[in-house]
Amino acid sequence: MAPSTTSRHSFLKRVLTDNLARIRDNIAQAALQSGRQPEQVQLLAVTKSMPLDVIGALLELGQADLGENHVQQLTQRAALLQEQAARRTILDPQATGPKPRWHMIGHLQRNKVKPLLPLVHLIHSMDTLRLAEEINGFGHKIGKVQDALVEVNCSGEEQKYGLPVAAVGHLIEQIASLPHLRIRGLMTMAPQVTDPETTRPIFERLYELFLEVKLDYRLGREFEHLSMGMSQDYMVAVRCGASIVRIGTALFKGIEEVGE
Ligand SMILES: *Cc1c(COP(=O)(O)O)cnc(C)c1O
Repeated sequence: MAPSTTSRHSFLKRVLTDNLARIRDNIAQAALQSGRQPEQVQLLAVTKSMPLDVIGALLELGQADLGENHVQQLTQRAALLQEQAARRTILDPQATGPKPRWHMIGHLQRNKVKPLLPLVHLIHSMDTLRLAEEINGFGHKIGKVQDALVEVNCSGEEQKYGLPVAAVGHLIEQIASLPHLRIRGLMTMAPQVTDPETTRPIFERLYELFLEVKLDYRLGREFEHLSMGMSQDYMVAVRCGASIVRIGTALFKGIEEVGE
């Protein structure tokens, strides 16, 4: 390894170690405040604007859950990381971190389901029956039961994607008969605001909806996730019941300036 690469690598690991520790600490506090254990809340690292070496460093630090909002970006990165991991395993079997678990968090078009499905751990952005049927159909072909969350639009016009609150129960009922799709919970994307407390009603609404739907449709233990909260408001989201927070900016603080 060239000296400059080595120093960049140790720089990344130092910054990410600090940021991860701070965020995990904040999550743990907020979880305890909502009567839960810190392990009940997952940190999803949203890597979309970050170069590959940053993702590699995250994996080495044990951060396996990674989120992307474009299918092409996700599939390319998954392939590159797999190649790197294979190469490094030959050199040093102990060197690699955990295998990445990819989350699709952006709007998903039906014609992108095929390349995505073999790679993705959890789809956060299911919002139509047609998309559900596409996933179910291709899942059948490749022998996979796909985990997904229903994306809910809790704030009306400010949000482009997601299902209106009133339509969520009905979609979940329709999806229940699709054998290659398993609905694990709900997701929402709150509008960007300056004061995180203003998003609290949105998170509270999603939590209420989650409980309602679970009860009304007698959903089992696998319906357990609420994906809500980003860098600016994840602590509020966790206090309101989030089980997955999606964080980019706060995690990469101090790295942006360096570039590739
Ligand atoms: C970019 C993105 C995030 C992360 O946002 P930050 O403010 O950078 O933490 C979370 N969720 C979705 C759907 C995103 O597109």
